[in-house]
Amino acid sequence: RDLPGDSTTDGPPRQVLHACYTKVSPSVLVDNPQLVVWSNSVAELLNLDPKEFERPDFPLIFSGVSILKGSVPYAQCYGGHQFGTWAGQLGDGRAITLGEVLNNQGERWELQLKGSGKTPYSRFADGLAVLRSSIREFLCSEAMDALGIPTTRALCLVTTGKNVTRDMFYDGNPKEEPGAIVCRVAQSFLRFGSYQIHALRGEEDVPIIRTLLDYTIQHHFPHLNSLSSKGEDFSLKPEGLEKPAVDLTSNKYAAWFCEVAERTAVLIAKWQGVGFTHGVMNTDNMSVLGLTIDYGPFGFLDAFDPNYTPNTTDLPGRRYCFANQPDIGMWNLAQLGGTLSTANLVNDEEVKYAMAKYGSRFMDEYQSVMTKKLGLAKYNKDLISKLLTNMAIDKVDYTICFRALSKIKTIHDFTDDELLNPLKPVLLDMSKERKKAWVDWSRQYIQEVASSGISDEERKRSMDSVNPKFVLRNYLCQSAIDAAEQGDFTEVRRLLEVMQKPYDEQEGREKYARLPPAWAYRPGVCMLSCSS
Ligand code: AMP
Ligand code: MG
Ligand code: MG
Repeated sequence: RDLPGDSTTDGPPRQVLHACYTKVSPSVLVDNPQLVVWSNSVAELLNLDPKEFERPDFPLIFSGVSILKGSVPYAQCYGGHQFGTWAGQLGDGRAITLGEVLNNQGERWELQLKGSGKTPYSRFADGLAVLRSSIREFLCSEAMDALGIPTTRALCLVTTGKNVTRDMFYDGNPKEEPGAIVCRVAQSFLRFGSYQIHALRGEEDVPIIRTLLDYTIQHHFPHLNSLSSKGEDFSLKPEGLEKPAVDLTSNKYAAWFCEVAERTAVLIAKWQGVGFTHGVMNTDNMSVLGLTIDYGPFGFLDAFDPNYTPNTTDLPGRRYCFANQPDIGMWNLAQLGGTLSTANLVNDEEVKYAMAKYGSRFMDEYQSVMTKKLGLAKYNKDLISKLLTNMAIDKVDYTICFRALSKIKTIHDFTDDELLNPLKPVLLDMSKERKKAWVDWSRQYIQEVASSGISDEERKRSMDSVNPKFVLRNYLCQSAIDAAEQGDFTEVRRLLEVMQKPYDEQEGREKYARLPPAWAYRPGVCMLSCSS
């Protein structure tokens, strides 16, 4: 790697200045580590023969005990704005990259162990991960990919055989929990905070931003490489010289920022479409590749509530609630724009241009997602917003409701009851007025779809391919976790299987598509905290 690294490898937690990474050795303690679940589709990405999972040393390699030949493990240095405030250096406090694998298609995939011991970036924490959060990260990475949402992936989950102590946020008492390690896979784990840290630490480190960005473009945005790199020339531009409209081909750094903005916009529009709430959209959890990264206190919407946040740390402000995600994406991009400006790589016009692009790209993508979710031929703002308003008022289940819409038939002489029949499972305890609101909406809906000329069958097929039947609801995760903590991983494996085909009917698996049971609302199931 041609990036500035830390000359002292490993060592105690500290401020690591002038560096993008530190070479480290995984140091997790294990006692008969076990491979408990893996993803065949990630193995395929890596051209890893499934037989390799049977190797007796597999759990040793993927817990970081045995280091493969050629691997030079390291932890990344990055910073971040946490809940809107600059938090300084964070870095990979419990993640260690083993290296990169080049697959048959020439793609480069980075393999990273999460929970494999302390690094110089561990600050006050232990560098470990518990089984509970590792299962959540493993399953959700694969579930999101199957939903068609860009994400970091997860190859496998290994239990360490050692316990980890955690303060449970809802009773304040420390608890021993089994430890585990997930092997995450992505083309890159670079975050907004990977660049920010060098701008916010002092002038001396500012040139690192350009070095890191050149590296990023060369390896991960090669199509931008041939564009010119004006960079610092901007400050030399004579005052008053007429500026052309922003021309991205004249500055690859601006083109890069614009692409990051667009990828972020598309990502968040897709989150909104499936009701995914990330829960901790700090700038250190924003991937420059536009991937969903760092699964912590995430949640899929159950009853539709725009203010839903799964993260107890996010209460009462709800900065990261469902409806705020698009604005937070914008705020986070503005921070990255500020970093690039500090390094004189982009000018104000270019930052403005990219931010505007974020807004327009988000709206385009979001409208397209919602139009498809309703099976409409063209965007209909009124119909979509009325539906969401109805859903919010009646606290209707987001996933089940959208899935059920495809069953509404365009038969105009249906009685009100016949019309609402497909939505019955989500329209509980309706007052007369509320029932009327849904009937009115449904009549408007069938009018719109009838005028589009799309047949009911065709509409159903296309809607079912964008409205998942199965999403990884927190209570489903929790059931699998409860069994796994008793040593039984069959439910984790079954959930993986179910979530790998979220748009299929999967007859016989109805219980994974149901409304959450009452126990789902106990603390720790729907409400989770940042640290685990
Ligand atoms: P997150 O809120 O998960 O994005 O984490 C914020 C920062 O805390 C990152 O730098 C993590 O690496 C670090 N961190 C979280 N949990 C641990 C842990 N158990 N040990 C060390 N560092 C951690
Ligand atoms: Mg993080
Ligand atoms: Mg985390």
